[in-house]
Amino acid sequence: MTDLPPEPFFSGPGLDRADALRANPAAIAALAAAPGALQLQWKDCLPELTEDGRLMWSAPTNPELFLGLEGDSARFSAIEPVTADARLVLPLITGLDGDDAPVFAAALSLGRWHSRHRFCANCGHLTEIVRGGWSRRCPACAAEHYPRVDPVVIMLAEHDGRLLLGRQPHYPAGRYSALAGFVEVGETIEAAVARELYEEAGIRVHDVRFVASQPWPFPSSLMFGCHALADGDELRIDTAELEDACWFTRDEVAAALAGAPEAAFQPPPKVAIARTLLERWLARLM
Ligand SMILES: [Zn+2]
Repeated sequence: MTDLPPEPFFSGPGLDRADALRANPAAIAALAAAPGALQLQWKDCLPELTEDGRLMWSAPTNPELFLGLEGDSARFSAIEPVTADARLVLPLITGLDGDDAPVFAAALSLGRWHSRHRFCANCGHLTEIVRGGWSRRCPACAAEHYPRVDPVVIMLAEHDGRLLLGRQPHYPAGRYSALAGFVEVGETIEAAVARELYEEAGIRVHDVRFVASQPWPFPSSLMFGCHALADGDELRIDTAELEDACWFTRDEVAAALAGAPEAAFQPPPKVAIARTLLERWLARLM
C-alpha cells in the first residue's frame, strides 16, 4: 500500500477552540491567570518561530485574544501589527512546523482582522472586543461583527488525462499552479469553479468535485480545492489574470513534483493546497 499524500498545510486540529468559554470573560480571565497559560510571541509583525519552526510562547502579559486550550491550559495572543502578504511571509516561514501551522494561521488571520476592523461597518463607532476576541460589538448600535473568511476556489481542470495549470506574472520562474479565484456572493463553490475556469482560460467544465480545503491566512482566505472535467482543451487565456496556461500530462506532473531537473514546470510550494491537489491527482485520488 502506498502512502497517502499529506493533508494540506495549515490544516489539522490546532487548539481546542473551546467556544463555550468565549461568552464567559471571567472564565477566560481565570485561565489567563492560571499556571500553564501562555501568550504567543510576535516579532516583526509575525508570530515568532524557534529555530526548529515551533511557535514561541511566554507568560501572558496582554492576553487580548483567547486562541483556545492546549489540554487544560489556555493560549492567548495580544493584538499585534500583522504582516499578511503571502509573498513576504512565505519565505520567512519555510520551516514552520506542520502541527503549529493551524495555530499560526488562526493567530495571523484573527490578528489581522482586529487591526483592520476596529470601527463598526454599520455606524462607524469604535467597536469593542467580545467573545475572547472572536467577535467585536458596537456599543452604539449593538451590531456584532465576526472575523471575515474569504472563500476561494482553486481547481484542477482535467481533459483527456492532462491537467490545466497556469502562471501569474509574479510567480517564480517556471512555476505553474492551479487556477483560483474568489467565490462571489450568491454563488455556489461549483459555479465559482466553472465561472473562473471560463473567465481565465475560456474552457467549459462539468462534474465539479470538492477535494480538500485549507485555511490560507494571507490574510483570511479559505481555499476550496476542487477537480473538474473540461469539455474541450482549446484555451482562451485572460492575460489580465494569467501570464500563461497550458495542459500537462501525468508524466510531466510527476516529474515536476519529483523535482526532476528536466521537468516541464516548477510545482507550487509544499504549503500551497495546489501542491496537495497535484499529489492527490497523481495518486489517482480524484
Ligand atoms: Zn455601530
